[in-house]
Amino acid sequence: MSSINQNLEKDERFGIPEGVERVLVVTAHPDDVDFGAGGTIATLTELGISVSYCICTDGDAGGFDDETDRAQIPAIRRAEQIAAGKVLGVSDINFLGYKDGYLEPSHDVQKDIVQIMRKVKPQLVITQTPERNWERLPATHPDHMAAGEATTRALYPAVRNPYAYSDLRLKEGLEAWTVSWLWLQGDANPNHWLDVTSKFDQKIQAISAHASQVSHLDDLAGMVREWQKLAASRAGLPEGTLAEGFRQIKLPD
Ligand SMILES: [Zn+2]
Repeated sequence: MSSINQNLEKDERFGIPEGVERVLVVTAHPDDVDFGAGGTIATLTELGISVSYCICTDGDAGGFDDETDRAQIPAIRRAEQIAAGKVLGVSDINFLGYKDGYLEPSHDVQKDIVQIMRKVKPQLVITQTPERNWERLPATHPDHMAAGEATTRALYPAVRNPYAYSDLRLKEGLEAWTVSWLWLQGDANPNHWLDVTSKFDQKIQAISAHASQVSHLDDLAGMVREWQKLAASRAGLPEGTLAEGFRQIKLPD
């Protein structure tokens, strides 16, 4: 069990494990990273840590009105994710283009994620929990669990095994890579929290870039603030603090 407080004593880097220089975030939909980890991403990039995204679907089942031409949604959502990334200091954004609502942890998806992991060479991977969270069902949308499961399978064993998806190595020269840390967002049992109070406005600005998803919400900031207050109280942080929580897993060496 670790918390921001314990980590701050050991680690000046705000709860970020030592040796982390590159981070890869894998999510199902455009906007998932901004809702679940926007404050964390802003913290990482401010510390000079390089962050890349892999977005599995184009979020083409999203939106809230019939006015927008559905055929335009993938392009709109990609552009919104690129704009949100800019707010948080992220420019390396990889879109896999799978169909929203149909994501499965298939070998095609796993291989695509392994390919990006081997290019990015992250020490830390952030993804969505592959386990059902009964307290917050929307956090474990089937696509979210599929993205988390495909990422976990990619982490162990495929990305570290040179003989898994061997054409990645033989044809593309992408060598095996071992990732040290996994953080799961949306998990029912978080064990690691970051104090992201100072990043709140930046996070709201990043979420707001997803106008096709959130522009109809009356009190987006109030809703997100409540979630982050809850996370802070669960972490045992002082009142008034805003936090983001993850389940942190140390992967085998
Ligand atoms: Zn989502």
